[in-house]
Amino acid sequence: MSEVEKTQASQNEASTEEHAVHTKNSKRADWILLTAVLLTGLVLFAIMALRTGTGQRVSVRVDGTEVASYWLYSEVDEVICGYDGGENHLRISGGQAWIADADCPDALCVHMGKISKAGESVICLPHRLVVEVTGENS
Ligand SMILES: [Zn+2]
Repeated sequence: MSEVEKTQASQNEASTEEHAVHTKNSKRADWILLTAVLLTGLVLFAIMALRTGTGQRVSVRVDGTEVASYWLYSEVDEVICGYDGGENHLRISGGQAWIADADCPDALCVHMGKISKAGESVICLPHRLVVEVTGENS
């Protein structure tokens, strides 16, 4: 075997090895990516769980009877039929609940603004409607 042939042979070997290493590395990168995605998901879940406490919900009662219940961290855009045919436009977004619009004469419920903590409520007396955040705050 001449010197030239030897060099070519070792070059071929080197490129094969390089290919093997490359494949190995990209597989490892896949694992790192997968782990990173899983970890990010876990961290986000933990943050959400901390922020939301243990299962905060928005309870809607009309005349003392619960007519609807939503998770506080959901998107809700509903018209609630209150007592005596009254209508309250309930909105839940970004962890806050509020009455966006209502056809009650005083519109106090609309002016009560947004609620987000357990125990807070928006009340519409003419429609006998109570929107309350339930659950524990962390
Ligand atoms: Zn009202």
